[in-house]
Amino acid sequence: MDSPPVSATLFAYQVGFGDCSLLRFSYADHSRRHMLIDFGATDLPEDAEPSRLLALARDIQAKVTEHEAGARLDVVVATHRHADHISGFATRDGAGSGDVIAGLRPRVVVQPWTEAPEAPVDWLGPDIAADHQAFAARRAALSAMQDLAGQAAAFAQAHGARLPSAIAQQLAFIGQDNLSNLSAVENLRTMGERCEYVFHGCDARLADALPGVAVHVLGPPTLRQPDSIRKQRSRDKDEFWQLAPRRFALALEGLGGDLAADRQLFPDAPSNPKSRLLMEHRWLADRIDSANAELLLGLVRALDDQMNNTSVILLLQVGGKTLLFPGDAQLEAWQYALRSPLADLLAGVDLYKVGHHGSLNATPKSLWSRFTKRGDAGRPQRLTSVLSTMHGKYGKDENNTEVPRRTLVAELDAQSTLISTEQLVAPALYQVVELDLSAPPGP
Ligand SMILES: [Zn+2]
Repeated sequence: MDSPPVSATLFAYQVGFGDCSLLRFSYADHSRRHMLIDFGATDLPEDAEPSRLLALARDIQAKVTEHEAGARLDVVVATHRHADHISGFATRDGAGSGDVIAGLRPRVVVQPWTEAPEAPVDWLGPDIAADHQAFAARRAALSAMQDLAGQAAAFAQAHGARLPSAIAQQLAFIGQDNLSNLSAVENLRTMGERCEYVFHGCDARLADALPGVAVHVLGPPTLRQPDSIRKQRSRDKDEFWQLAPRRFALALEGLGGDLAADRQLFPDAPSNPKSRLLMEHRWLADRIDSANAELLLGLVRALDDQMNNTSVILLLQVGGKTLLFPGDAQLEAWQYALRSPLADLLAGVDLYKVGHHGSLNATPKSLWSRFTKRGDAGRPQRLTSVLSTMHGKYGKDENNTEVPRRTLVAELDAQSTLISTEQLVAPALYQVVELDLSAPPGP
């Protein structure tokens, strides 16, 4: 299997709001290699059974072992820790979707450096001059963020009925997505023969697992890498990773600590909560709840952005084709990658897995404009964009934060062959994109 693959097939699974991409590389000797990039959902499609993720895990298992009983899953990539990317890796007494994936005995599990298990709290990430592989991470910071997200979700649940519904819904949704998913995290840490914790510019060491495929890591940057982050640190060393959780904690204290409990505005007043306020004053309590909820939502969004920016960004070059899988990396992570020498590789992208379910700041214009294979429908070797998303779950139309963003989807549709999981009709489980790797590279 020394020669490169002759074809690549992408199965983009319909998970609702989330991501699950299985890449198959097929070789001239009929052997195959498989790479699973993310497996999670926070909201299933309306027509899906609750057991959809288990069904998808079994489908992945069938695809991996189709030609060869007992074949292994070669690579698993968990781009970042959000539930909509890892919840499918959760285990349940041997019967969960994550158990099925672990049963495929992955050779390598790739995660961002921020997930590496031995973690000094103030670690800036691996030193570029030293070994390529991460050894430590800011686990403490990540788990603190998740504790706070849990409190936000609880707040939304306890007070949701009294809050404007758009705020309550966003608070619950983003809070849920940031909750820790311990069994999935643990499964990812232990199911691989080896783990690679990667960062911008490192060698992901996948040459054995994926012969003939060049894998470039464009993100996440370490905290040593970006100038902007260094400047921030000189001003306040806690700014980048820790400020948001701290602001969140302070906000919680201001609200009396335990948001899940029904707050009492006048704790010493007689304890029938319904008669605690005069009827004509109750509007004020509702306003205060709304203001608190909006503050919390801002903080939870900040946590959410930070977590997205830990996303692994992979660029694969194989048989003259270039494939880009950016997870949910947002503008800040891209700014670093776009200034680096690796950015030159973006010109050749043939297949773009659209970042962050189609949110605008995950496909910055400075990234999109680098893809030279954009063009009208008639363009030969035209760029293909693959979108995994679900309308109405994230952001809102009024302030142009809706996901997927209308203007981006229109641009993707005009300038590339756009394939979206939302186009699927039940019982189809996935979109398929075939790449012929034996054809000469396009213009
Ligand atoms: Zn996501």
